[in-house]
Amino acid sequence: MAQSLDSATRQALLARVHFYRDLGLTEFYRRPVDPELLAQLAVKLDESQPEPTPQSIQLEDPTITPRKPFPVVPAIAAAVPAPERAAAMQLIRDEIGECTRCALHKGRNKLVFGDGSPVARLMFVGEGPGADEDAQGLPFVGKAGQLLNNMIAAMGLKREEVYIANVVKCRPPNNRVPEPEEGATCSPFLFRQIDVVRPEVLVALGATAATWLLGTRQPLAGLRGRVHATRGTKLIVTYHPAYLLRDPRQKKEAWADLQIAMKELGLKPPTKG
Ligand code: URA
Repeated sequence: MAQSLDSATRQALLARVHFYRDLGLTEFYRRPVDPELLAQLAVKLDESQPEPTPQSIQLEDPTITPRKPFPVVPAIAAAVPAPERAAAMQLIRDEIGECTRCALHKGRNKLVFGDGSPVARLMFVGEGPGADEDAQGLPFVGKAGQLLNNMIAAMGLKREEVYIANVVKCRPPNNRVPEPEEGATCSPFLFRQIDVVRPEVLVALGATAATWLLGTRQPLAGLRGRVHATRGTKLIVTYHPAYLLRDPRQKKEAWADLQIAMKELGLKPPTKG
């Protein structure tokens, strides 16, 4: 029978899981390796059966839910001329409408589509709206948003000059990580927004954005510090501002990532005074 955790253990566990998540570790396994399953596999190998793939191993054990594959990413859309990008963005917004495509709509106050310039050279992608964003209908307007604004200013840009969007457009309950189905349902709209803006540089804020933009789960630490490519655009991966608020020592690292983005854009940090 399932046992419930006491509140202190639950809080400690949650904090630890959030910490791992910010490091880019998103896979956790609660079950120990099943010796019976290992024995079965050994027999199979002895019988010169083809080596089972991880998926076939999982399917043989009905208690393990097979991992859902990433959805097929839509093809990159044709470039939209700069004067038509605002209208193209509005078309995407209209198509989303009062979305009920996934369960996240049930807890939504306001859908958070995106914000900023549709002709931006730089675009930021976060995970999903939090409470402030859900209340205002705009991305990154809470505490993490204030830090993002500071990061943008440090790059010598104004918030209105960049474009900001999230992997999912409705707030996940208790700010949890979007479920694969939710990301799969919502991310095609993000991809279309990226195709309209055609930024020269995309910055993924945190592991969830990096995962959906790259189409692969990898620890954040291994993705930072270099230039990736996605949808015909350069992609830089850095820490999520909410993580930087929890561990400000990592701000130096995030600034190093933003400087890579600035170099790609030919930007120099503003001079003081
Ligand atoms: N965190 C995100 O990932 N996105 C927001 O819009 C706000 C907080």
